[in-house]
This record gives sequence, structure tokens and C-alpha cells, in this order.
Amino acid sequence: MSKETKKKKLALHWKILIGMGLGVLFSLILLSTSWGASMTSVKVKGEEFPISNAELFVRNWVKPFGNMFINALKLIAVPLILGSLIKGVSDLKDISKLSKMGLRTILTYLATTIIAVSIGLLIVNLVQPGKTITEETRENLIENYSGEAGKRISSAEEQKESGPLRALEDLIPDNIFSAATDNGNMLQVIVFAIFFGVGLILIPVDKSAPVKAFFDGFNEVILKLIDLIMLVAPIGVFALMAGLVVESPSQDLFVALLWYAISVVIGLLLMILVYVMLVWIFTKRSPKFFLNGISPAQLLAFSTSSSAATLPVTMERVEEHLGVKEEVTSFVLPIGATINMDGTSLYQAVAAIFIAQAFGMDLDLYAQLGIIVTATLASIGSAAVPGAGMVMLVIVLAQAGIPEAGLALIFAIDRPLDMLRTTVNVTGDASVSMLIAKSVGKLGDPSVKDWDDHYKKEVI
Ligand code: ASP
Repeated sequence: MSKETKKKKLALHWKILIGMGLGVLFSLILLSTSWGASMTSVKVKGEEFPISNAELFVRNWVKPFGNMFINALKLIAVPLILGSLIKGVSDLKDISKLSKMGLRTILTYLATTIIAVSIGLLIVNLVQPGKTITEETRENLIENYSGEAGKRISSAEEQKESGPLRALEDLIPDNIFSAATDNGNMLQVIVFAIFFGVGLILIPVDKSAPVKAFFDGFNEVILKLIDLIMLVAPIGVFALMAGLVVESPSQDLFVALLWYAISVVIGLLLMILVYVMLVWIFTKRSPKFFLNGISPAQLLAFSTSSSAATLPVTMERVEEHLGVKEEVTSFVLPIGATINMDGTSLYQAVAAIFIAQAFGMDLDLYAQLGIIVTATLASIGSAAVPGAGMVMLVIVLAQAGIPEAGLALIFAIDRPLDMLRTTVNVTGDASVSMLIAKSVGKLGDPSVKDWDDHYKKEVI
């Protein structure tokens, strides 16, 4: 490639940002035209519902492209986990290395989540956003959103009804093919892949070599598919953002919830600062290097609100742009995407206290400590899909004795906050994978072409 064409090539995160900006602009312009703003109706199950022309147009002609993009990302999530985790685990060569890395990963994830909940509690107690909600606004919100809140409460109820060991029991799939048919069963696929990888370590090398070679090649194919999908990322995020803008609820309710949203946003920003500092202190990689490397995954997390859909890109960025060896990314990141949700836990803490404040309840220190425990567990249990954090919030509310109907209060603004917390969730996974890589000597310099050699040098 000549120097000039190289110069003209825009970095991926800029292309994604431009796509997002144009998507928002497109819908805003459409909504401001008299045709776009005028109402029409759609028939759903024989019933007519009013809808603006703009929303109908975007729903029919723009959003499908966004859905196709998300589907493509989700499509490769299961093969990616299977391929890379089996290869990653078997590359570790002995079981003690695996258990060492496993323990460190889980403990670090737990530590970052507890930091996140604590930051959330601190901010919400300082800002006290719930105190700004008037009686009238509260009733207004509850009236508007109680139906939606009810749906979340009943899906949380289903989770609650199961016994205390249910989560553990669910880790072991009874059939790998059925587990692999549902992206919600990612943890089961992870367990199978680790188990398979362990088996591969334990058999003689002449038998394991062809199986490993197969997964090596398989992995390469999947990584190439991610590259191909990312070529259309700017179009995908354009469509997703355009869809979000036309579907967002009325602005007045947004304003009423401004202080609550600001509290969550301050907390999330602080959390990003914590990651950057951790990476800087423990791996000596600068904030610019870290944020530049991970930004396309962050933007994708923002547009899709799903850590699971973002996982393929997170893995690619952390490996190829942050210099973490595949043995670490393939293990740490899929687990992180399913259990490490710092943004979600922070949001759950803020939301729980906000609702309590709005209902005039004062939670003492003991109750707030309880929230640290439940929000940590609830975030671990949240699926890596849009809106999952809100379903699990019901459990945090119930444990703390806060009215679950309060969910209706925060509904109007949940989607934008979901986008932001998912961004933090993904950033958290990436930073922890760097810390783990450093601690086991698997962090290299991605700018060195043959970085396998470089990495050997660094380790030696
Ligand atoms: N959407 C979040 C994620 O995928 C989960 C949540 O709703 O908080 O990470």
C-alpha cells in the first residue's frame, strides 16, 4: 500500500463514530419533516396502533440492516468461544497453569465488580437524585411504564423461583448441541470448551496435535469473519442508532430523570478511570494506547447494548491491538462477557437507591452493604443482552425491601444507560484481560510484527 493511501484510511473507531452520528442525524431530520412527524397506524394482531411515518419508515427500511449486523456478530459468538477456548486451554499445556489463571481471573473480576458497586453507592448517596423527583412525576412515570415494569418483574420472578444451587446446576449442559443453539447459554458452552481443552491436554501429543491443528485453523477462519463483518460496522451502527432515535420516548420524562442519569454516568466514567489507572499501573500501557486499542469494541457495545454481540470484536481488539496472547483472551474474555458486568452492577446500585429515595425510604448502612452483595451477584447473573441488567435489578430491589414497582420510574431512560453500562462492561473485561496477561507473562507489544518472537523475548 502506498504511503498516501495509507494516510487516507480512516481508523475504524472514527468510521463507527461517523456511522453513529449520521444515524442519529438521519432520524432527527426525518422526524422534523412534516411527513415524518405525521401519524399513521400499524396493525398488530388485528389491533391498530398509532405510529409516526418516520418510525414506520425506519422500522421497515433502516433497522433491518442493524439487525442483520447484530445477528452476524451473534452468529459467530458460539463458534468463536468453542474454537478459541479449546485452542487457548490446550495451549496452556498443563492443568496447574489453567487453574492459576482461572482463579486469578475470577478474583479480579469480583474485585472490579465490588469497586464498581461501591462507586455507584458513593455517587448516588452524594447526588441524591431520587430526592429531586416530585410526587407528580413519580405517579406519572409509574402510570406510563407500569406495564413494561410488570414484564420485567415476572421474568425476574422466574429466575428467583429456582433453588439456591440452580445457577451452579445450570453450568453443566446435558447436551452440547442444544446448549450451542442458544446464545443465552454461553456459560454452558464455555464450560464444555474448557472441559474439552482439558481433555486435549491430557491425551498424548501425537493424538492431540491434529485436533489442535483443526481448532487453530477454525479459529483463523472465525477471526477473518470478524474482520469481514466489521467492514460493514459503520452501516450497522447507522441503522441501529437511527432505530433508537425514532423509538425513544418523550423528552419530558428524560428531563425528570436527569439527575439519576447523571449519577449513573459519573459513576461509569469513574469506572473507566479506574480501569485506565489499573492498566497503567500494572502493565505500564498508557491510557491512550489502551483506549485507542479498545475503542471500536466500546463503540460497538454502545450501539448494540450487548456484551455478547460485542465479544468477537473485543477479542480481536484485545489480541491484535492491546497485545494480549490468545491463550489469555480466549479464556478471560468469554468468561468476562458473561459474568463480569461492572457497569451493570454500578447501575443497579444507583438505580436501587434512586428508587428508594424517590419513595422516601432511607436505607441504612447495613441495607447498603446488602446491596453491594446482591448487585454483585445480580450482575454476574445478568445475561449479556440488552436490558438484562434491569431484569436482575428486580432481585436487588426485592432483597433490599424497595418497592419493585419503582422499576417503572427508571424505564424511560434505561436504554441509553444500557448502552453506556455495556460499554463499561466491555472495557472492564478488556482491562482485566490485560492485567491477567501481564501477571502470567503473556502481554506483548502488538506493534511488533512477529510478536510471538517478541513475546518470547519479553518473557525471557
Ligand atoms: N446490556 C448489558 C450487557 O450486555 C447487560 C445489562 O443490561 O446491563 O453487558
